[in-house]
Amino acid sequence: MLVLAEDIGSRPAGSPAERQAAQYISHQLATYGYETQVEEFSVEYYVEEAGLEVVSPISLSLSPGALRLSAAGEVTAELAAAGLGRPEDFPPEGLKDRIALIERGDLSFADKVANANAADAAAVVIYNNAEGPFQGDLQAESAIPAVSLSQAEGGQLQTLLEEGPLTVRLFVQSTQETSTSQNIIGRPPEDDCQLIVGAHYDSVAAGPGANDNASGSATLLEIARVLDLSDGEQGVCFVAFGSEETGLLGSRHFVATLISQDEPSPQAMINLDMVGVGDEWHIMGSTSLAEKTAQVATALGLDPLLTEPHFSSDHLSFTDAGIPAILIHRFEDPRYHTESDRAEFVEPQLLEEAAKLTLLALAELAGS
Ligand SMILES: [Zn+2]
Repeated sequence: MLVLAEDIGSRPAGSPAERQAAQYISHQLATYGYETQVEEFSVEYYVEEAGLEVVSPISLSLSPGALRLSAAGEVTAELAAAGLGRPEDFPPEGLKDRIALIERGDLSFADKVANANAADAAAVVIYNNAEGPFQGDLQAESAIPAVSLSQAEGGQLQTLLEEGPLTVRLFVQSTQETSTSQNIIGRPPEDDCQLIVGAHYDSVAAGPGANDNASGSATLLEIARVLDLSDGEQGVCFVAFGSEETGLLGSRHFVATLISQDEPSPQAMINLDMVGVGDEWHIMGSTSLAEKTAQVATALGLDPLLTEPHFSSDHLSFTDAGIPAILIHRFEDPRYHTESDRAEFVEPQLLEEAAKLTLLALAELAGS
């Protein structure tokens, strides 16, 4: 897990870091005796660029970052302070085409931008509440352009604003690029995939993706390592998916390829996503597979919760194609999709529990 979350770090879909992580996973699976295959597919993504400068009464150029999925656009307008961007932080009459200056904290970036849009702001600048610049993610495309700024530059704008009106020019530009992402498949030599253990290894751009999902990838590798191939453990394949965060692209590609090549349909798929933080084990997905796995978890003393499917991850690509699949995870992670999703917050004991649970569930399924 440390290799993925610390040595490599953030692994966005289609990036060189994602490719480096794929090579590491492939190498590990080969070391454990699996036949490995790299399944490539193309991904399209947006590269956002941002600019911000004060144009009057002085001229001052700043160094913003675009928030991921910010609307593109250029706005020259008066700047207006709007606290933390809570509804009550905006003047009752709204901001009417001005640019909102908001401090980071308390609300999600998406909520701050949505509140500013509701107050008729034309664009948003969010400055850091800790030292340095930051990268943020809006999760879905925003209605108005939004940029991030370091604490120091945000403070500079606040000070200038207190002295009088300030006009700034802000732009966000977004260009679509195409790149290659990949799934890594590890099969037992000369065998079909009757059971599949899967985990995505890409991360959001905002952070190093330790819990989401170096935790699941590392657990997958550990399961692959301890499964004794020489001991007749047949038919269990491991698939590390790329580009989950940009719409389950890797698993969709894997399942589509499986179907198009007319390969025998796997009996079941177990997906590990975010298994290292949080209070409870959740199991969701195909009913009978989920119930069987929950029984195994209960026998291990893990006290699992069978949860209604509500969390989007790679198992859905399988259930959508009629292949029984479940997700094992712990989703209460306060650092989800942030720069703080770091290895130090992942509990090794939880990865061990996830590995034991999956191994037992595999044994149960192989015997049934
Ligand atoms: Zn994930």
